[in-house]
Amino acid sequence: MRAFYHPDQALHAPRQFMRYGVLTDPTDLPVRTERLLGALQQLGVEIETPSDYGREPALAVHPAHYLDYLDSAYPRWLELPNHGPEVLPNTFPYWNGDPAKDARPPCPTDQLLAQTGYYLGDLAVPISEFTYRSALRSTHTSTAAAEAVIAGEAPTYALCRPSGHHCRADRATGFCYMNNAAIAAQRLRSSFGKVAILDIDAHHGDGTQEIFYRRNDVMTVSVHVDTDHYNPFFTGRPHERGHGAGEGYNLNIPLAPGSGDEAFLAAVRDGAKAVTDFGAEVVVVALGYDTHAEDPLSMVKVTTEAFRQAGEIIGSMDVPKVIVQEGGYQISVIGDCLFGFLDACREPR
Ligand SMILES: [Zn+2]
Repeated sequence: MRAFYHPDQALHAPRQFMRYGVLTDPTDLPVRTERLLGALQQLGVEIETPSDYGREPALAVHPAHYLDYLDSAYPRWLELPNHGPEVLPNTFPYWNGDPAKDARPPCPTDQLLAQTGYYLGDLAVPISEFTYRSALRSTHTSTAAAEAVIAGEAPTYALCRPSGHHCRADRATGFCYMNNAAIAAQRLRSSFGKVAILDIDAHHGDGTQEIFYRRNDVMTVSVHVDTDHYNPFFTGRPHERGHGAGEGYNLNIPLAPGSGDEAFLAAVRDGAKAVTDFGAEVVVVALGYDTHAEDPLSMVKVTTEAFRQAGEIIGSMDVPKVIVQEGGYQISVIGDCLFGFLDACREPR
């Protein structure tokens, strides 16, 4: 198996994260990457540096005006009087978030604070000096993993950081600035007719869902903690099945808070079956470990061993796979979770 990662991805080092009304230490630390790289070394997988694809793969999913904002926000922020260390919004424009509705109207002004409210959907996506560079490199990593599968090699693993699955076409939230899994899926469409994304991070893949919500060529499936109780709250319910041509091509499988391995693995099996029934020719797996019982953000109790079993279930699907890294914040367990998942996925019993 081949694996990709660019060292520039570690440059993004957020300093603040709003939790329960307190600007506290961030959970998406660069040290996460070191643990995941360690697991790859343990597996004997060589880590390759992706080519510089520029903006082209990202532009297949995100509009240029959004990428321009991410690129320019920090230097513009430094011109504000008494500015803080990172770009963060202090306004949130009303938008009902209904994924069946047309895209929201454009930002009516290019004023920095207005754009910051428009493009940054929450307080978990601070922008500092290297954020744009790291996020763009993360898209190169998922693109390289997709390209390797197009060249006939599978499975492949993209060590993406920053993560991507909460990022909508034109809005960052939840530690995500560009949607790496969506970019990989779009790339795969150049060679495969039917692509599926199977997201098993603890959080609903709301950005990914919205990007493909009206399409029937990319099926999106998300296994996640019930959003009645858990971020991102406003989407992720079973009745969200897609819209227009996309009707029936989005599947949400919520897990009750407190669920353990059995419920998690049953949901992964259901997700894998839906992907197979769809007739997917290739699968992008959005892999997170924040369902782990020890994860600081977890509301469910999945064990390290269950990630090996999830790798087994997904590895048994008879299609090539691109595995894209999403969340997982308990530094002491994420390396073992990745190790078990990839070890089982690349050679399922
Ligand atoms: Zn997550």
